[in-house]
Order: sequence, then C-alpha cells, then structure tokens
Amino acid sequence: MKTVTILGATGSIGQSTIDLIARAPQAYEVAALTGGRNLDRLAADAVRLGARRAVTCHDDADAGLRDRLSGTGIEVAAGAQAVAEAAARPADWVMSAIVGAAGLVPGMAALGQGATLALANKETLVAAGPLVMAHARASGGRILPVDSEHSAVFQALAGEDMRSVERVIITASGGALRDWPLDRLASATPEEAARHPNWSMGQRITIDSASMFNKALELIETHEFFGIAPNQIEVLIHKESLVHALVGHVDGALMAHIGPADMRHAIGYALHWPDRRDLPVSRLDLAQIGTLSFSAPDPVRYPALDLARRVMAMGGLAGAVFNAAKEAALDAFLDRRIGFAAMAPLVSRILDTMSATDGLEKATMTLDNVLEADRLARQRVIDAVNEH
Ligand code: NAD
Ligand code: MG
Repeated sequence: MKTVTILGATGSIGQSTIDLIARAPQAYEVAALTGGRNLDRLAADAVRLGARRAVTCHDDADAGLRDRLSGTGIEVAAGAQAVAEAAARPADWVMSAIVGAAGLVPGMAALGQGATLALANKETLVAAGPLVMAHARASGGRILPVDSEHSAVFQALAGEDMRSVERVIITASGGALRDWPLDRLASATPEEAARHPNWSMGQRITIDSASMFNKALELIETHEFFGIAPNQIEVLIHKESLVHALVGHVDGALMAHIGPADMRHAIGYALHWPDRRDLPVSRLDLAQIGTLSFSAPDPVRYPALDLARRVMAMGGLAGAVFNAAKEAALDAFLDRRIGFAAMAPLVSRILDTMSATDGLEKATMTLDNVLEADRLARQRVIDAVNEH
C-alpha cells in the first residue's frame, strides 16, 4: 500500500494522476487532495478515493468545501498555508501538479517530510532549482520528473554514465501558432493561443507552449534537474509530439524516447518507478504514423528560448524573476491588456531592470529571497502594464 497526496488534484495533471490511482484503489491510500475553486470535483474525488483530507487553496472556499464533505469524515482545510500543511503530512509519494510558482512552498514541504516528489510543477525548479535540489538531498526526499520531456530524458539515461552524455535534446510541438505568419502573432487572442495541436493540458501551459515560454522553463528545468550545462541542451521542433527527448552520447549515439502524447505515461512512470507497469495509454503504430519531422526553432518567432539562456547565464534569482514575470505577463495577456508578442519583450525588460537595480544575479538563494524576488517581479510587470 502506497500513501499518496495529490497537489493540484483538480487540474489536468491532477486528474490524469487520479485516473491512474482510481484504477487500482486497493494499492493506494490517499492522504490528501488539494485543489482550487472546482469544489464539486475536489469533493467528489476525495469521496471516491477515500482521501483523509481535502484542501482548497482559497480561504473563502472553506465553507463551500465543508458543506460538500459534511458527514463524510474527510478533514477539510483552506488557504495557501493549509495546502503546504497537506503536503507536509506523511506520504510516500506526492504529486506536485499545482500550476505556477504557488507549487514551490508545498513541494518543499513534501520533500521535507522525505517523500518522493513527482514533479509536474516545473516552476519549482525554475524559480529555486539549487535550493530545491539541496533540500531534497538534505531531507532524504527524492524528485522524479513528470514533465514529459524530462521523464523521457530520465528514462533514456537509465543505466548510463552521466560522464558520457554530450547533449540533451528536448522537443517542442511549436504550439498553436507555429504555422502563423510572423506579422499575425501580435494579434493572436488567448483563445487562439490555447488550441494545442497535440496535447490536452491546462490553459496556462497551453499558451506557454504557443509562446515557447514553456520550453524556456523546460530548458532551465533540464539544467537544474540533470545538472547539464546550458550549452549542452538543445530544443528541436517536432510537430508530431511523439519523440519527447533525446540523449546524445560521446560515441555519437542518440537515445530517443518515443511514446504517445498522453501525460499518464510520465505520471505512471513516476508512480511505479523504479518498476514499469502496464499503463492505459495507446500503443504507437509507427508504420501508420509513417513520418517524424524535426526542425530548428526560429529565434524570432520564439524569443523566450534566448531569454531562458540569458537567465541560466545570470544565475542567482534570475530564474525566480523570469518565472514570475512570465506568469504576470501571461495574466496581462489573458486579461487582454497586452498582445501575445508583447510578453517576451516585457519579461526581458523586467530582467534588465531587476538585474540593474536589484542585483538579482548575486543574491543568495534562500526561500525568502526567492519569494521576495517573485513578488517584486510580478509588481514590476503590473506597473509596466499600467503605465503602458
Ligand atoms: P491546471 O491549470 O489544469 O491545474 C492546476 C491545479 O493547481 C488545479 O488543481 C488548481 O486548483 C491548482 N492551483 C492553481 N493555483 C493554485 C494556487 N495558487 N495554490 C494551490 N493550488 C493552485 O494545470 P496543469 O496543466 O495540470 O499543470 C500543472 C503543472 O504541471 C504546471 O506546472 C504545468 O506546467 C505542469 N505540466 C503540465 C502538463 C500537462 O499536460 N497539463 C505537462 C507537463 C507539465
Ligand atoms: Mg513538457
């Protein structure tokens, strides 16, 4: 029996995780489920899985969740602090599927109690990679990647000597606007940017795929998690989304990971690791698929990629600022305050000003400093959008 907690249980990754767990209820005990405003789903899943505790991250949703779970014996709590407390409760395996930097503190809490942290929340490593990796080592916790590319690299590296690794290639579909003429990008709406060609995901990551901010975060995630130098990490456009990553060795071999565009593969791999178990994902018929295509990403279409390389060169709190500025720029785009093509220049400007005025490259990485840099970067984006 494995005790599991799912942070962000009501989202896209959370629901895929629940799908796997609900197929073998006798194998799991659910310590806690956390979610946001979708109280019906949170309550229904808590009952269905026999969770001990259900938590919404919104203080004002406390009564609503209590109503829905009254008489069930399931403990209820609300607020950001309650989410972190749920993550700190004893569990063998904790899925971190919160979206955004809000996943950082709960993820740290889960590692602190020695759990295996299945990490879908890449923002954790982008904002505070060195801190989080050190915390995992010190507490005896373990991180397993759930992002499809990183799960693919992790699998391709199994049994290999890291010293023979020459490069890592992560793939990108190119997102919803890949084939749009460049001069139309400025006018793309949130709805248009949120139509992913291959993956069904949360709204924010889908738009980040169209801008490649998602791939930018993943470049940093690769660097932080695997300890691979930035100049050894490449991005390749692969519009079929079937080859998720490749690891290149000094003898010229490329080990590719190929699988369906279904997150239950990467989630299931992290759930059963180090074993492999049967998973309810489709089996690829490569003869039917016929062609796999690859091309280099255009830096003009996808400026976020160069920004990520700048952030890795800067170090310090640059990742925290980059991620927070990106999240706030995305909010402004979703609110229709700025255009799609304005997000990257805005994030770039915030990095410039905070590098000049706040010395973010040199700052020591503590959790407090990361959270403060995150807060400041968001405020600067809001100020810039208001001035505009
Ligand atoms: P989603 O928007 O579908 O779900 C997000 C979940 O987080 C929800 O349960 C929501 O209630 C909760 N949440 C939102 N704000 C919160 C806050 N402030 N505090 C606590 N909980 C909060 O997102 P998703 O697509 O499932 O993505 C989750 C994470 O996984 C992201 O970091 C994303 O980058 C990563 N990821 C997602 C996919 C995918 O296929 N969806 C693939 C790879 C990585
Ligand atoms: Mg990914």
